[in-house]
Amino acid sequence: MTTILFVEDEAPIRDMVRFALSRAGMDMLEAGSVREAQDVLRVRRPDLVLLDWMLPECSGIALLRYIRQNEALSDIPVILLTALAQETQRVQGLEAGADDYVVKPFSPPELIARIRAVLRRVAGRDMDGRLRVGELVLDPATRQVVCKGSPVPLGPTEFRLLHFLLQNPNRVYSRGQLLDRVWGDDVAREERTVDVSVRRLRKALAPFGLDGCIETVRGAGYRLVSGGA
Ligand code: CA
Repeated sequence: MTTILFVEDEAPIRDMVRFALSRAGMDMLEAGSVREAQDVLRVRRPDLVLLDWMLPECSGIALLRYIRQNEALSDIPVILLTALAQETQRVQGLEAGADDYVVKPFSPPELIARIRAVLRRVAGRDMDGRLRVGELVLDPATRQVVCKGSPVPLGPTEFRLLHFLLQNPNRVYSRGQLLDRVWGDDVAREERTVDVSVRRLRKALAPFGLDGCIETVRGAGYRLVSGGA
């Protein structure tokens, strides 16, 4: 059964969401604070975290960062709930690694639809940690990429870039975000570096007809289109 961890300090909202989730055939774990959520995550691995922005002590964004920085948890999808409709807050949440956000007040059917959409997006992930788009399979354990049974030769940077994009399909990342998330503290900080690696990655995927799955989004950045492969 699909299990959702709902982090929210307001009991009536937790009750409402638990009811909506159970009607949708999903199970709910709950936590009233970031600390409680961390306790739950030490023993359970939910399929998705639904995270309220406004929590006592520290904000939901702190938990989001904790999840994204924790190797064992980082691929769990997170939907942020926020009463703050301002663009800066939404951008902050998405940049911190939220997969989607829902603005309060929300209707239960809308929330369930968003949860299902995010779960569909991440469904391409294998149980054993392999990631796939169509016939392209990346195995983080062996660091191998295979398409239609043939190995796809990739340099270490292109591998990391593809790995990151496959973990977050259909989401648009700016060059700056990709530098942060893929290159991290490496020396290269020029945004052009990203363009060069995207070009190399597309070239490596082209013989398999998959170069189109890395899409340029004008004025925004890049994304991996999981439906296009
Ligand atoms: Ca709250």
